[in-house]
Amino acid sequence: EREEPNYFGAGPALLPTKVLQQAAKDLIDYQGIGLGIGEISHRSGDATDVIESAKANLRKLMNIPATHEVFFMQGGGTTGFSSLATNLTAAHVGRTGSKGTAGYLITGSWSAKALEEAERLGVDCEALFNAKDFNNGKFGAIPPESAWADKIKSKDYSYVYLCENETVHGVEWPQLPKALTESSIEIVADLSSDILSREIDVSKYGVIMAGAQKNIGLAGLTLYIVKKSILQDISAAPLDQLRKLGVPITPVAFEYPTVVKNNSAYNTIPIFTLHVIDLVLRHILEKGGIPAQQKENELKAQLLYETLDKYPDFFNLPVAKDCRSKMNVVFTLKKEGLDKDFLQGAADRKLTGLKGHRSVGGFRASIYNAVSIDSTKLLVQYIEDFASKNA
Ligand code: PMP
Repeated sequence: EREEPNYFGAGPALLPTKVLQQAAKDLIDYQGIGLGIGEISHRSGDATDVIESAKANLRKLMNIPATHEVFFMQGGGTTGFSSLATNLTAAHVGRTGSKGTAGYLITGSWSAKALEEAERLGVDCEALFNAKDFNNGKFGAIPPESAWADKIKSKDYSYVYLCENETVHGVEWPQLPKALTESSIEIVADLSSDILSREIDVSKYGVIMAGAQKNIGLAGLTLYIVKKSILQDISAAPLDQLRKLGVPITPVAFEYPTVVKNNSAYNTIPIFTLHVIDLVLRHILEKGGIPAQQKENELKAQLLYETLDKYPDFFNLPVAKDCRSKMNVVFTLKKEGLDKDFLQGAADRKLTGLKGHRSVGGFRASIYNAVSIDSTKLLVQYIEDFASKNA
């Protein structure tokens, strides 16, 4: 039992209390077997059922087409963007015989880190644009496609990477860029902080990758949805060819085809963590699936942004309207010296997790799936009260 928290942390994030209560029971005794779900072999029947259930529920929720495979690996967003750089480069070798260049769309710190990591690993890669160059040296806007679309025709790109929702800067792609969906280059996307928040067309993506600890569960697992042809292409690139081309080899536990062949249990998958994911998926299905969740999310974002926009002399919203995140609402106070008061006043009303990322400062209200409309309304009321008192 707990009082319903009004928690706006950026991740790990709130999970539905109902899910946690069931998980707590299953951690001790799973379906009467006398053992917890975290204590049994990851290859046992019960564990396999959890894996199958999570995959099936995800397929149902996201309408994942038969062309795409669903699997899980240990780690988070970082292991996700590290390992995809080598997997996708190997796929390009398997497909074309050459390693190509990976293109990155830089819209905030997470896509920037993903590019940095690809470089560090020794993958041939480059930024197709850095949004900072178009917005006075700051993240907060996405340049028009005309600024970079021609570039993707100029080279043999192995894949194009984007981060659909930049958790730190509060910048979210409103939709996939047409220049990419209309090209044959594989789109590889980090959905760590907006997966299951809105309807998307999975068939448009080569790879979807998402760390679990925001909208889908506890930290420890990463979800992958990968086009089957990419798996075949990776398998078609022998190690000695990759070595000859100077392509870094993917560690075995992160090699997509190996993991898929072993139904996500090549090595020890944390089954308790996956069971929590499955409980969250079932919870969203019961609530009416993604369309219902999306409606709630849109209302929460609208309530918050409308309130902040009402006081333009008091709040600064650094993100352009057309790419404002519906998951992470980022703002600062224009008046100096009030930041501590804002946080303290919020805490007094049991509104927590609002401090902005250390690299950006100010405030960030993360309104992931499990944050209720009621919680959001309490925050909105607080923002109103604080602004009327101090503006
Ligand atoms: N990508 C995004 C969009 C994120 O928000 C985060 C974490 N906040 C990461 C990647 C990194 O995830 P992790 O800490 O699980 O490696």
